Amino acid sequence: MNASRSVTVSVDLGRVRSNLQQIRGQVGVEVWAVVKADAYGLGAGTVAEATADLVDGWCVFSLEEAVEARLWERTAKGSIVLGPPVRVGCEDYREHRVRPAVSTVEQAEALRAAGPVLCLDTGMQRFACPPTDVAAVVRAGDCVEAFTHAVTVEQAKRLQDVCGHRGMKLHAAGSALLHHAPARLDAVRPGIAMYRGAVRVATRLVEARQSHGPVGYERFNARRHGLILCGYSNGLRKGPCFVNGCKHEVLEVGMQSAYVEIDAPDRVGDEVVLLGQGLAEDELAAAWRTTPYEVLLALTGSGQRQYV
Ligand SMILES: *Cc1c(COP(=O)(O)O)cnc(C)c1O
Repeated sequence: MNASRSVTVSVDLGRVRSNLQQIRGQVGVEVWAVVKADAYGLGAGTVAEATADLVDGWCVFSLEEAVEARLWERTAKGSIVLGPPVRVGCEDYREHRVRPAVSTVEQAEALRAAGPVLCLDTGMQRFACPPTDVAAVVRAGDCVEAFTHAVTVEQAKRLQDVCGHRGMKLHAAGSALLHHAPARLDAVRPGIAMYRGAVRVATRLVEARQSHGPVGYERFNARRHGLILCGYSNGLRKGPCFVNGCKHEVLEVGMQSAYVEIDAPDRVGDEVVLLGQGLAEDELAAAWRTTPYEVLLALTGSGQRQYV
């Protein structure tokens, strides 16, 4: 996705901190903050630096992500890789205080010296170990920690059933299960719950017109329309927006610009908010027919990032 020069992506690090403080207060167990995919577009290194005192460690998808964001150097807290291990030596993991997730005996053996964490399959059916192989993998990797990627409380319980008697540290819950006490186990791995409400994406009207007859590619009808310099090449889609604080619609999206609905007093230079300030990721996700994750990733990449 290209970033538009006309769009500002403001990341409120104070809000990320207050989200984390709320999570900590709620769960009462270790918090391993998920900063994969550049902290869902908010910037992994900066987010980590701003929140290190509130977390026990980091979760990334690959070793490279932890190295690139310099998580250990910046925060003196280690990371767990959630994705499948790539073929690199244990020294690479150890140097950066990163522990790989393993799901096969071969992986566990090869990465034994890196302190591998067992990833149990409780239904996700990817990058994870079937319950029947657990004993062999734990032995091969000397694993003292296990997790599963759970979306239901039953999956968290399954992890406990399979691994609970082995004296290992266990975790299962991402954001969706934080509210369910039985899913919290020894630690939680919140991702999107840290980032909700922390991003504001805005641009300005570059044209404000009275419409005459059918408009745009789709020949839509409107009384008035404005234009912004953000299009589908920047990740934008049709849906709600705010113009001067009034709720409106993005009427049609082009490659690098979009038509928005406006009122008579709206002028060139007036602000158009595409996310934040009363426009939540979930509301946009419903309008875009996708997930709040995709909305966040699309819009954090849509413009010039700044921290507030
Ligand atoms: C991405 C991820 C998480 C965090 O998910 P959220 O829904 O954003 O909280 C937790 N665990 C694993 C294994 C993941 O891949």
